[in-house]
Amino acid sequence: MCVTQLTGCIDGGMIDPLTPRISVQKFPKGRDITQARLREGKETMKALVKYASGVGNIDVREMPEPSPGEGEVKVEVKYCGICGTDIHIYHDHYKNNPPVIIGHECSGQVVEVGPGVDSVKVGDRVTVIPAAYTCGRCRYCLEGHVFLCEERLSFGSGLNGAFAKYAIAREKNIRHLPDNVSYKAGALSEPLACCVKAVSFLTGVSAGDVVLVTGPGPIGLLTAQVAKAAGNQNSHLCPFHPCFSDQS
Ligand SMILES: [Zn+2]
Ligand SMILES: [Zn+2]
Repeated sequence: MCVTQLTGCIDGGMIDPLTPRISVQKFPKGRDITQARLREGKETMKALVKYASGVGNIDVREMPEPSPGEGEVKVEVKYCGICGTDIHIYHDHYKNNPPVIIGHECSGQVVEVGPGVDSVKVGDRVTVIPAAYTCGRCRYCLEGHVFLCEERLSFGSGLNGAFAKYAIAREKNIRHLPDNVSYKAGALSEPLACCVKAVSFLTGVSAGDVVLVTGPGPIGLLTAQVAKAAGNQNSHLCPFHPCFSDQS
């Protein structure tokens, strides 16, 4: 039997079991990068903004419309999921870098590309990997475990995210949606990818195992479906989370 727990998706692409999942650390170098992102024109757009540290401090505000720099892509957001991480940001239990536009599970259409972008073009249907900035030099980055980079700035918490009309992403964080995947479903690509990683790579589940998934939130539901798709017809969802229940 394998038991899988995920509390949110934004760190789930690669899980470091030694790092507390919820912490209120400040991002190391986010400020100047955030300012660099505010490379705006004169237009503004409505966005959901964590405008100051502390509990709450989230509001819909007019924010400058961004434009893509070198190697960046501008996406018109079609859908953006509300993640458990967003709730943690509301309660200030998850690191954030205000003022920052939140939202990191999105789909959308490319409306502009910056200089040097060649694998993405205007009109493409896409989703975004939320490791918005990583150092590219540390052991984790060099091994491809970018979600563990200590300098990581995440889309929608460290850098501006997708609860807005437009979002900016690095070209290498763009993934194309197949034609048969709707924008609505495409917004779940990133949490689904975390669940695939949890089931297929981190827990060593194989076909025929009996699988118990605790916590029937969106991540739990996706994880159970992935386990089933991996050949585990005996996938069970536990209707409570052991952290919150005497019933366990
Ligand atoms: Zn998420
Ligand atoms: Zn790094």
